[in-house]
Amino acid sequence: MIIELKKDAKPETVEGIKILLEEKKLPYRFHHIYKKDVFTIVSKVDTEMVNILGNISGIEEIITDNTEYPLASIALKKERTSFCVNDNVIGGDQINIVAGPCSIESEEQIFGIAEFLSKAGIKFIRGGAYKPRTSPYRFQGLGLDGLKLIRAAADEYGLSVVTEVLDSSLIDQTYPYADILQIGSRNMHNFHFLKLLGKVDKPVMLKRGMSAPIAEWLMAAEYILTEGNEKVILCERGIRSFDSMVRNTMDIAAIPMVKNLSHLPVWADPSHGTGRRELVTPVSMAAVAAGADGLMIEIHQDPDHALSDGAQSLYLEQFTELISQVKLIAQAIGRPVEPQISKKPKNLNLCVE
Ligand code: PEP
Ligand code: MN
Repeated sequence: MIIELKKDAKPETVEGIKILLEEKKLPYRFHHIYKKDVFTIVSKVDTEMVNILGNISGIEEIITDNTEYPLASIALKKERTSFCVNDNVIGGDQINIVAGPCSIESEEQIFGIAEFLSKAGIKFIRGGAYKPRTSPYRFQGLGLDGLKLIRAAADEYGLSVVTEVLDSSLIDQTYPYADILQIGSRNMHNFHFLKLLGKVDKPVMLKRGMSAPIAEWLMAAEYILTEGNEKVILCERGIRSFDSMVRNTMDIAAIPMVKNLSHLPVWADPSHGTGRRELVTPVSMAAVAAGADGLMIEIHQDPDHALSDGAQSLYLEQFTELISQVKLIAQAIGRPVEPQISKKPKNLNLCVE
């Protein structure tokens, strides 16, 4: 249940509701989020209590939906959440494109990719400095040196940085170098880490756990929201299935499902979602057709020699082709793709404080 207070609700009203809930032994949380003051209660509330609350004048609305992720849910907020990262609107009409290597490998590599992206009108660069590798013998990333390199390359070419925070001990180190903090699939269930990210004042892109049901993914987002960080992006990155032909099974249906359940922006990562270069463009098109608000794509100048995820990384010219294919789908559903508005951003005023 969600109890939304009126904008002018008095502190006595808030205190009164707390006392009522405590008397009834109903565990609650009180939040100020998306410019609303709300109580959330996930245990069952009986009709008598709902009626008592219904008579309190400082209450705007009582939403009796029983959801384990009230703050992430459309029950709280029908309009879609959007916010700005530098001059870019996330979760608006336009489809955001994030591209870059799986791992930051060298100055030459990341500056080369940043230059390529800026020429293509892309606004976000990705690249991991700390890599969650399955084998400890594989390349683990350049660490802090990598973070410095991606930041310098992004600043040189006017891009925003999306990079993974691998662990709670690395939040402080990663924070100054990132514009969006990526939370990897393996960390989606790391609830203590999620709570810490809820206290950070930068957007968090939360990848779906590779074996996580949609409800668990939304509850993971809820962990971040309950601590006060309102800027959460959900990213579908494929789930494990029985089929060894693909690295993961891209759950395209999860995109409209999550958009029906939640107001948060939803991105798609067809690179990890398939693990195969030749599938990345068609699956990107499918994700956009299904309603994805953004795409995250792995690219590399020399994928055959990439230090991680080469098999799913696009050659630069394939990425150019991907953008033109995705634009066709975006046009068909009436949404602009970021490069089209890079010179004259229509939404720029949204990002001016
Ligand atoms: C990545 O984006 O490089 C990555 C490791 O992704 P995931 O957490 O989805 O495996
Ligand atoms: Mn990768």
